[in-house]
Amino acid sequence: CGVFGTVGVSDAASIVALGLHALQHRGQEAGGIVTHDPEQGFNSARRFGLVRDNFTSEKLLNTLPGPIGIGHVRYSTAGSKGGTQIRDVQPFFGEFAMGGAAIAHNGNITNALQLRKELIERGSIFQSSSDSECIIHLMARSMGRNIPDRMEEALRKVEGAFSVVAMTRTKLIGCRDPLGVRPLVLGKLGDGWVLASETCALDIIGAEFLREIEPGEMVVISAEHGIQSHYPFRPAKSRFCIFEHVYFSRPDSILGGQSVYSTRENIGRELAKESPVDADLVCPVPDSGTPAAIGYSLESGIPYAMGIIRNQYMGRTFIEPTEQIRNMGVRLKLNVNRALIRGKRVILVDDSVVRGTTSRKIKDMILDAGAAEVHFRIASPPTAWPCFYGVDTPQREKLLAATMSEDEMCEHLGVNSLKFITLDGLYRAVGEARGRDASCPQYCDACFSGEYPVEPADMLEQGFRM
Ligand code: 5GP
Ligand code: SF4
Ligand code: MG
Repeated sequence: CGVFGTVGVSDAASIVALGLHALQHRGQEAGGIVTHDPEQGFNSARRFGLVRDNFTSEKLLNTLPGPIGIGHVRYSTAGSKGGTQIRDVQPFFGEFAMGGAAIAHNGNITNALQLRKELIERGSIFQSSSDSECIIHLMARSMGRNIPDRMEEALRKVEGAFSVVAMTRTKLIGCRDPLGVRPLVLGKLGDGWVLASETCALDIIGAEFLREIEPGEMVVISAEHGIQSHYPFRPAKSRFCIFEHVYFSRPDSILGGQSVYSTRENIGRELAKESPVDADLVCPVPDSGTPAAIGYSLESGIPYAMGIIRNQYMGRTFIEPTEQIRNMGVRLKLNVNRALIRGKRVILVDDSVVRGTTSRKIKDMILDAGAAEVHFRIASPPTAWPCFYGVDTPQREKLLAATMSEDEMCEHLGVNSLKFITLDGLYRAVGEARGRDASCPQYCDACFSGEYPVEPADMLEQGFRM
């Protein structure tokens, strides 16, 4: 998901809408905006679909007045799949002591079911099936003397990954979990302030990028008092999601002081060093494989070419909820540039192999077009474990790498060769010169290593085995 918030501006809703539009790659199912105006109080709008289809109408934006607002773009990872209900669309708003608050959450609360059960037993009335709603109820029940205190207390009970943007009537609040699994950045816009999942959402509104919110940090921002920073949690070593670098973030964003695009190019270079192969062309599976393919081509000297053309009017394939639609999705989205491919030995670079559906279809299309050889090079290690921290991966059984070795996957996909970047190679590419520190990894890489930095309590209770 993507989260965004602003305070101290003249028309928060339009700014939030633009910010969400820049974060659309983080979630395309639905979006929502909440604002507050001294005269009209809180207002909210939550809609299915894309930001540009919902939040560009003047009529709608006029119903969201005020100098402070937050927003969310949703892609479902927890709870009901294949049919988000409008009640699950964020931001969530609740009126309780001191005027109440609205929150938008990116990540996944790993003890949400447990918390929900306890809260319901004590009388909380849930409106949605979302894990994120727990935070509002915990805040409402807290005895803290102001809303930021209540939020601190609430978030100390929550486990897992959370980058939260919240608002009261006058304050914008941002917080990252102690491991800082999901991103959150701070920007300045004129006299106002901005919080966003990624820096690309600051660029779109011309805001200045100040810094990242630190793992475990909570910032409370108001037009009156500026920024106050707290550290409510026990200090921990940060474990940022390494897959944000590989796939999830936009290539024009800055993560950890480094451009995502250049990191992906490095990944391609590492891949070329680790797994070279004699071929005529390096082609990306667009768009997610493009920067890594450029890196592979630069390092290997094999020419880069657009062997697959992407229909720009399609979203990300994996957002499609059912297998059938996903299968069609590949053809709706990608087509082979036949004239270029015929008779060529082609290296295809993609970001990841999850179920293997995409790779199989693409291999078929490329061979249909007359390619002489197809070699897959993948910009992440084999995805053998599900993510419980806010990226949608299917159950373990559906992950190709959970049951097959690299050679078996190669055979299953029917390609001439298949190589994944090593975990150490990936760490080098993101800037860790000595690779992965096995005793204390610098990132979360659980979907590749199976080492979960936060115990997925709800999943373990449901029978998941680490
Ligand atoms: P597959 O067809 O192997 O499941 O999907 C692999 C491709 O789709 C990759 O190019 C990746 O960009 C994207 N993708 C598909 N499904 C998922 C998913 O569940 N999680 C993530 N993170 N990416 C996916
Ligand atoms: Fe990121 Fe993978 Fe960790 Fe999920 S499990 S947070 S996708 S590195
Ligand atoms: Mg892809």
